[in-house]
Amino acid sequence: MDKRLILAALLAVASVGGVNASVYDEWFEDKTLRIDFVFSGNANESYIGVDELVSFHGWAGRRDNLLDSGPEGNGYVLVKDRETNQHLYKYSFSTLMQEWAATSEAGRVTKSFENPVLVPFPKKDVVVDVFFRDNYGDYVKLYSQTVNPDDILIKDVSGKDVTSHEFILKNGDPRKCIDLVLLPEGYSYDERDKWEDDARKVKEILFGHTPFDRYEDKFNVIRVDTFSYDSGVSVPHEGVWKNTVLGAHFDTFYAERYLTTVKMKSLHTILEGIPYEHIIIIANSKVYGGGGIYNYYMLTSDIDGYPQVMVHEFGHSFAGLGDEYFYENIDDISLAMYHKGVEPWEPNLTTLTDFESKWADLVPDGVDIPTTDASVKGVGVFEGGGYVTKDVYRPVYEDCRMKNNEAKHFCPVCERAIGRVVDLQYNK
Ligand SMILES: [Zn+2]
Repeated sequence: MDKRLILAALLAVASVGGVNASVYDEWFEDKTLRIDFVFSGNANESYIGVDELVSFHGWAGRRDNLLDSGPEGNGYVLVKDRETNQHLYKYSFSTLMQEWAATSEAGRVTKSFENPVLVPFPKKDVVVDVFFRDNYGDYVKLYSQTVNPDDILIKDVSGKDVTSHEFILKNGDPRKCIDLVLLPEGYSYDERDKWEDDARKVKEILFGHTPFDRYEDKFNVIRVDTFSYDSGVSVPHEGVWKNTVLGAHFDTFYAERYLTTVKMKSLHTILEGIPYEHIIIIANSKVYGGGGIYNYYMLTSDIDGYPQVMVHEFGHSFAGLGDEYFYENIDDISLAMYHKGVEPWEPNLTTLTDFESKWADLVPDGVDIPTTDASVKGVGVFEGGGYVTKDVYRPVYEDCRMKNNEAKHFCPVCERAIGRVVDLQYNK
């Protein structure tokens, strides 16, 4: 190409970047505001309160697509200019609290869940709204608060000592790249060499797996070095309780393999001052388990025995992908957190209520919708997914990372969804 053309092309890209950057700069500082929400409720009601507002230097998140963080999730935070009501920033997420609210325990007990959310620090007064998705797929506003950036009770922790950490993959300025933090859970101080090894393995597993291998140059990976008093994590069904940094345990919601932490305030306090957008927690345990919740965190154990589970959980937490597997004995859609006549927000599941908004464009001509022919090798619309055999559909018959541990790849629908999130979150 002619050198002048190359220069012109570069200038065109630079000017587009400039416009986007100025929108961010017009409204926000290069600083993070953490809003420590507490979500409470039971099967019938949800309540939202705020524990504390915290700020620190630097903003590692989106600067371009401020109103689009990817899949909708089970809820979102919307930041608006107080004076004009202009929408400034949106952050979609799912919560452990909403998963819990679907359990039978939620019919008997009311519980609270810490749920900090990061937003860019505003230059002017803003209104922060929180919406939760209801069973009909509608987003209902449950909370609203004005934030004045000059409020003296916003705790500024910019000057505090930052937790020991190291970039184990650095492809650029955290303001530009997508920043993943890796946290150890249940590694004692004596096991710090094992933690360094395991963190490196996690990075290699993730970027050795398609499609993340194609996007490696858009990510930074930061290993955080926080060690626990005890080695290992708590296993309540064996009566084992450990003293660990994040208090993670198996048996979440009485499901044996479900390994989570609810100590979200401690988790985010550890990360103050470190650039982070996505959280990967590695539990020091040979027992198979874990979980991943969209834009919340993912946690996994036994990365040597089940490296692919880590990638599966990251599919949930990073791209909001749903589980494509199902249990043969469950045919009642209401047991799956999905509802007939309501399109799931997950990009790789459909109830055929609004299939056009999903992967209709990837289904080849001649393939039936829904697809009953199990011999169709590529993309179709196969019944069974989202834990149930009926009324929820998945993109491929067999082979997807979100369906089984034996799969080698994500299906084309999941791959595309991951690519979209990378595009939205990488600041050009
Ligand atoms: Zn898939």
